[in-house]
Amino acid sequence: MDENKISDSSQSLPVVNNDGYFEIRLESIGGLGANLCGKLLGELGAVYLGLNSASFSSYGSEKRGSPVKAYIRWSEAHREIRVNSPVTEPHILGLFHEAMAGKLPVTAGVTEQTKVVINTDAAPEQMRERLKLHAGELYCVDALKIAMESKSRVNMVMLGAIVRACGFIPMEPVRALVTDTLGKKYPGLLDANLEGLRRGYEDVVMEHFAPDGAFSAVPYKEPQTEWGYANAPIGGVNTRFGSTVSNDLSPSREGYIPLFIQDKCINCGLCDSTCPDMVFQFKPGIYKGREAMVNSGLDYHHCKGCLRCVDVCPTNALVAGLEREHPKREWAVRNKDLIVAHMEFEETGANSWVTSEAYLDEKRVDGGMV
Ligand code: SF4
Ligand code: SF4
Repeated sequence: MDENKISDSSQSLPVVNNDGYFEIRLESIGGLGANLCGKLLGELGAVYLGLNSASFSSYGSEKRGSPVKAYIRWSEAHREIRVNSPVTEPHILGLFHEAMAGKLPVTAGVTEQTKVVINTDAAPEQMRERLKLHAGELYCVDALKIAMESKSRVNMVMLGAIVRACGFIPMEPVRALVTDTLGKKYPGLLDANLEGLRRGYEDVVMEHFAPDGAFSAVPYKEPQTEWGYANAPIGGVNTRFGSTVSNDLSPSREGYIPLFIQDKCINCGLCDSTCPDMVFQFKPGIYKGREAMVNSGLDYHHCKGCLRCVDVCPTNALVAGLEREHPKREWAVRNKDLIVAHMEFEETGANSWVTSEAYLDEKRVDGGMV
């Protein structure tokens, strides 16, 4: 047996709940790899740490940009895991994108014992304010930047930071886990993934916050969905296709955005038919002296950064750029008494005011906002 795999039952957990479990919950957005990170943590417990282990994920359409949760439960070898429900009061909470702060109840169930690990470039004090974190230890790691520098993925960096926050796991079995699993499947990426893992472990910064009355604890509630078995449309047909105003996909980008260079565009429409999220807006205009549907640009609010449009553009009118190199500007529009905040990039050649305005008028209101 691999020397990094613990075969005896000597591994103990430093803290457990009343059922004898050490529990981890990951909150993420499809595309950042939280599902895989959860599976790796499950395997780490069972195969490399000599623990009993269970892990499962909860997600909807497996679409990049949709909410994802992963749950991991560990117990010592003498105690079987008989619970298969979501983790409500985690010992470790992993937040894969800071944009989830304030939008979703991601800190639900956090107690004074919880260690919260978040992907952010902000310091713990700033992040505590944004999360309205009641208490606990807050670990901040710039996983996106590290992933880009090390050419790995956000989930590898988060895995390293989460392992560090656990406080009782040495790095050797974690390196062995990544080598044995991802290394076999993607050998060419192994060094990059190990580097991302190491940087996540070493670069994470921690601050402890005791409850001081500034923010209240958020109780855990079962997630509510608009549709269930009792009221879903016949045949399960979703009539609300396309993007809606509220569908902010920007958190699922992994550091890159498509940049639009209008002078090079021949208005072929390939980007529009390729984009899975209706980010492009074509409107009537003049091209080469004739009336045509003209590409007006992108609405980055709905762009998840997959860069498929860059791949298909025949004239290089779309090129990949680093998101952090482009200043952002926030603006808001009023639509039927709802204020809708949007964000656009300056100096990208796109005019997302036009695109968003047109969508608001034509499509998105239809798509579920009102
Ligand atoms: S694929 Fe390129 S050239 Fe064609 S419409 Fe889109 S941006 Fe313009
Ligand atoms: S990167 Fe391009 S194809 Fe992907 S969501 Fe954004 S605009 Fe659409």
